[in-house]
Amino acid sequence: MNIILLGPPGAGKGTQASRLVAGRFMVQLSTGDMLRAAVKAATPVGLQAKAIMARGELVSDAIVSALIGERLDQGVGAGAIFDGFPRTAAQAEALEVLLAARGQALDHVIELTVDEAVLTERIVGRYTCANCGEGYHDRFKQPLVAGVCDVCGSTEFKRRPDDTAATIATRMAVYRGETAPILPFYETRGLVRRVDGMADIEQVTAAIEVILDG
Ligand code: ADP
Ligand code: ADP
Ligand code: ZN
Repeated sequence: MNIILLGPPGAGKGTQASRLVAGRFMVQLSTGDMLRAAVKAATPVGLQAKAIMARGELVSDAIVSALIGERLDQGVGAGAIFDGFPRTAAQAEALEVLLAARGQALDHVIELTVDEAVLTERIVGRYTCANCGEGYHDRFKQPLVAGVCDVCGSTEFKRRPDDTAATIATRMAVYRGETAPILPFYETRGLVRRVDGMADIEQVTAAIEVILDG
């Protein structure tokens, strides 16, 4: 089972991917997470990507497709949940080739639909546990005990440097101009399933699980 979670920044892709992998022996393949790890480690890819990410623009198709290929070679258990990839037509084509070369194919492309008006608030309120990466939100998903990670008990949290009002307009324009246009490519193959991303986090997960178990 290989699925893509598609939606604009803040739609809930990362939140849902990490909830879905928990019980299913699937793995989350987030190019954003891979790139942030490369920036942190100051690898050649990271050095190239850092300023591009800070501006909210896209890192090159060649770089992100290579990251995905390397990750697929490490094995993905019961399947992959692609989160934040593909984001361009060229990446969608690269993914076809990468999967076919490994005897794999896509099962579903799940589009998380959201009102653009809520995305800014989702993005500027987003933070994660600095230790385990669990995602939180200032208003929509607070830890059960204030200041303590539900999952690992850490009291250290962090925010992404690109989660600022300044980058959001660019990131939304990139989504509309480069990423949303890949949906018809998958529509013609009958792969697209829409899920209401405005619902509560738990309800969104339940709706995706119906699709995966269907
Ligand atoms: P994406 O990976 O699509 O950019 P995230 O999963 O990081 O989005 O979600 C963005 C922010 O919105 C996070 O702080 C998350 O806790 C919160 N969030 C995710 N899904 C929902 C939802 N259905 N309702 C309210 N807030 C949500
Ligand atoms: P979000 O879901 O909030 O947009 P991501 O973590 O998916 O954030 O991506 C953060 C940044 O990393 C993007 O704005 C972009 O600069 C870069 N990035 C991530 N995935 C890709 C990709 N598939 N192609 C090009 N750039 C990417
Ligand atoms: Zn934690």
